[in-house]
Amino acid sequence: MSIQNNLLEIKASLPSNVTLVAVSKTWPVDDLMEAYNAGQRFFGENKVQEMTQKWEQMPKDTEWHMIGHLQTNKVKYIAPYVSLIHSVDSLKLLTEINRQGQRYRKIINCLLQVHIAEEDTKFGLDENELYALLASEEFNAMENINVTGLMGMATFTEDMQQVKREFMHLKSIFEEVRQQPQTLNLKPKTLSMGMSGDYRLAIECGSTMVRIGSSIFGTR
Ligand SMILES: *Cc1c(COP(=O)(O)O)cnc(C)c1O
Repeated sequence: MSIQNNLLEIKASLPSNVTLVAVSKTWPVDDLMEAYNAGQRFFGENKVQEMTQKWEQMPKDTEWHMIGHLQTNKVKYIAPYVSLIHSVDSLKLLTEINRQGQRYRKIINCLLQVHIAEEDTKFGLDENELYALLASEEFNAMENINVTGLMGMATFTEDMQQVKREFMHLKSIFEEVRQQPQTLNLKPKTLSMGMSGDYRLAIECGSTMVRIGSSIFGTR
């Protein structure tokens, strides 16, 4: 199967309200171009330097999503061009993104990453930290970020019942956040959950954005 075939097949299977982010980390620009030529515009990367190099080489209407853990001191490298940061896991990081947004006179779209997995290896805010962040004065004063939703990763396990519980949990948190009054910098509409192994289940549980790598590009 070619990248193009994989991509088109997955795309055709997605409900119309679900956005596909092609996770292209580790793959060369030639492979990204194959996906681009098949119509794909959203690409997910997890390393700042790799994403920036690919941004320099790819057509300018490509949209870049940072999906990996982001260090505060590296925000400045992606701020000029990034279209969505999925992995915001602290007020400190959000503060720096807002600062870089000010510097480039733009509003940077962000998802807050919530820790839903039982494993403690994955990054993310726990529920209390999430609500504390959203209620904080610092957050409410930020004018150069827009929190457009939440992101989460389920435990890496064969136990699909567990994965489902974790996705349902994130969906309920998402609905809770959506109950809050919307403000200029909080307009939650995106729920980023699901990867190659679990995206169908994630969609059943309410995902609106799936991040798929190996099912498109092959196993890394
Ligand atoms: C690598 C990665 C993905 C894609 O994983 P696949 O199993 O290759 O689809 C999705 N989300 C994040 C955060 C990743 O790091």
